[in-house]
Amino acid sequence: MRTVNPATGEPGPELAASTPQQVSEAIARARSAQGAWAARPIAERIALLKKVRQAFLEQAEALVEVLGEETGRPAGESWLSEVVPNGDLFDWWLSAGARHLRRERVSLNPINFPKKVAFIEHLPRGVVTLITPWNLPVAIPLRTLVPALLAGNAVVFKPSEHAPRCGAFLARLFTEVLGEGLVECVQGEGDTGAALVEGEVDLVVFTGSVKTGKVVSAACATRLVPCSLELGGNDAAIVLADAQLERAAEGIAWGACFNAGQNCAAVERVYVERAIAEDFLAKLQAVFERLRPRDDVGPLTTDFQLETVERHLGEAREKGAIVRCGGARPEGPGRYHLPTLVVVESDDLSLMREETFGPVLAVRIVDTAEEAVRLADDSPYGLTASIWTADVYRGWALGKDLQVGVLTVNNHSFTGGVPSLPWSGPKETGGGITNSHLALEKLTRPRTVLLDRSKAARELWWYPYNDTLVEIAVALRDGALGKLGSMLKLPGLLGKRFR
Ligand code: NDP
Repeated sequence: MRTVNPATGEPGPELAASTPQQVSEAIARARSAQGAWAARPIAERIALLKKVRQAFLEQAEALVEVLGEETGRPAGESWLSEVVPNGDLFDWWLSAGARHLRRERVSLNPINFPKKVAFIEHLPRGVVTLITPWNLPVAIPLRTLVPALLAGNAVVFKPSEHAPRCGAFLARLFTEVLGEGLVECVQGEGDTGAALVEGEVDLVVFTGSVKTGKVVSAACATRLVPCSLELGGNDAAIVLADAQLERAAEGIAWGACFNAGQNCAAVERVYVERAIAEDFLAKLQAVFERLRPRDDVGPLTTDFQLETVERHLGEAREKGAIVRCGGARPEGPGRYHLPTLVVVESDDLSLMREETFGPVLAVRIVDTAEEAVRLADDSPYGLTASIWTADVYRGWALGKDLQVGVLTVNNHSFTGGVPSLPWSGPKETGGGITNSHLALEKLTRPRTVLLDRSKAARELWWYPYNDTLVEIAVALRDGALGKLGSMLKLPGLLGKRFR
């Protein structure tokens, strides 16, 4: 395997792809390491993962260099999206997040269940397969690696074929501290991912396209292996007439062009109220024209992405869209595309319906806020949406019916880098959850433990079934209906049953 630096066209070093045999061996090593890891007290797991955090932060310069070679991204962007938030990610999971792994005591109804105590334990799944895309090749794997390991799992991880060295770098950081087996990195293309999904694993965590997500989900379904899917997005921003236009323009331009638009939560569509549309467009265009390819907006990572951008733009032009700025590749080497602002009138464009995943923003002028919300929601995806307005509560109220996993008012998408907040989305976005304690619902399995100190020979619901049992049940039902008088009969009935 070999990647090409998308900024310069220079080939990177060669890497060996894993054979199917090596994939099975990696899973077997993970399986044999996992039990002992899960058996260690959580304080020990936390202490070791803190050492990985230290190494991650200390070696960040080298990681940013590899990121630059594989993705061509500006270094400042890599630092702020792939390094700094991940220090927070380790910190949150290794303190507040870890508290969610404690067993919970659950109180039981003392009349129905006397002398019993119950607990919920959060046990690791076992061996987790982690398959990730190329667009955020550090942040996305870490969002699963850290909590999965903390919870006592081992992980077999396949980075994208377009960012294999970033994946290998991360895996090495873990292996140097934790030893072999707990983070196994396998390399390759889709067939390696497929082999991993079909291996003897206990959970598949997948981030990638809807198309591949459906294939992975089907493969898991046939074997009843649980899976968590984080798939695409085609996010909308809604700009209301009372918005602070300068902030809206700056924020939306960043949301659209961050990572050259190769972000699942990139703003791809804007719905702006007619009253301020021209003013807003002028401000947005000024920001777009200020953005420098290479320094501010990196290249498209793959030829396929560049072709998608050009295809979607070509179709929009043919159907009458007006390109306000950009619309072409800049001079010079690399897979760059100019930040591009397009005004559209049709909702039936690939730009409006599909994931473009490039530095292209389509703006559609609407007559009312309600129309904007309706159009924003008319999408197969449901990752994030933002509403820009001077009245944050009006924005929140307007967005209450939007079928998205993240709703932001006067900001866009950055909460993906906040470890305490769930990152998720309904519809074709897949419904998987990363970040926050809610991610543990997939990374762990619950076990109920019931301890019974009762010395009675029989429980209420055990044999024999007789008339007294029916009378007790009726009294309990009446009690549940608030007829407390019936409850007075209970001690006598219970005495009779257990005599
Ligand atoms: P792909 O679906 O093409 O690939 C994702 C991963 O799956 C890659 O590692 C890929 O390997 C692997 N893969 C490919 N085929 C199979 C298979 N049959 N079985 C198992 N694994 C397979 O997505 P991209 O890499 O192109 O990533 C971009 C997509 O990711 C966008 O749709 C984006 O929206 C989404 N995404 C979603 C996020 C979210 O949080 N919701 C976050 C970031 C991205 P290989 O690359 O080697 O082919």
